[in-house]
Amino acid sequence: MIGIFGGTFDPVHYGHLRAVIEVGEIFGLEQVRLIPNKTPPHRLEPSASASMRLEMLQLAACTLSNVVIDTRELDREGPSYMVDTLSSLRGDFPERPLLLFVGSDAFNGLTTWHRWRELFDHAHIVVMTRPGSSARPENDFWDVLQVFEAGDLARYKAGKLFFQPITQLDISASAIRKMIAEKRDPRFLLPDAVLDYIHSHHLYQNA
Ligand code: ATP
Repeated sequence: MIGIFGGTFDPVHYGHLRAVIEVGEIFGLEQVRLIPNKTPPHRLEPSASASMRLEMLQLAACTLSNVVIDTRELDREGPSYMVDTLSSLRGDFPERPLLLFVGSDAFNGLTTWHRWRELFDHAHIVVMTRPGSSARPENDFWDVLQVFEAGDLARYKAGKLFFQPITQLDISASAIRKMIAEKRDPRFLLPDAVLDYIHSHHLYQNA
């Protein structure tokens, strides 16, 4: 099974990295592909350029085994639609179950994503929830897709929805950018190598 973890990574932080390690272990993933997006359809332009976000991701992920940085969204023209990304990954991995990991915040906006129903033609979606959270989706559509056994994800290549509690560190890229703009110290929220990169490139100095 292959894990897919998309994001803006502006910058990458320990919340992302902890989640990647945990889902890799929980699902016994062969690899997790980190996919930085270029032109996020749902948010403002990132503060750091695509190449800088990529370099920070490389610095952060170089010590993780079974993690691959996948630049297909950066290499593609136009907006970074996840449905196009999954379709292209399906072409590369025709027989493997693909697991797209999204945080609960991202899942809550999923029905606004471009051709969102087609996401399930190519991959399963695993929602990373907070431990103890009882949040359930309100849309009946989800009842049809939801499975309660992680093992069901390995039996099919795509099309299922699964909720997986993981340790969620209360860290966000936007809070880190704000701390840097306010000249506060964000150490221990992200790798030192990434923070050094941010300082040496004078990133995020304005909120
Ligand atoms: P921002 O604060 O700028 O919105 P972010 O920290 O949420 O950024 P993204 O790059 O937008 O980071 O997130 C990519 C993916 O990582 C999303 O699926 C998001 O839900 C998930 N994610 C972000 N922060 C955490 C965290 N602390 N723990 C677990 N997952 C996270």
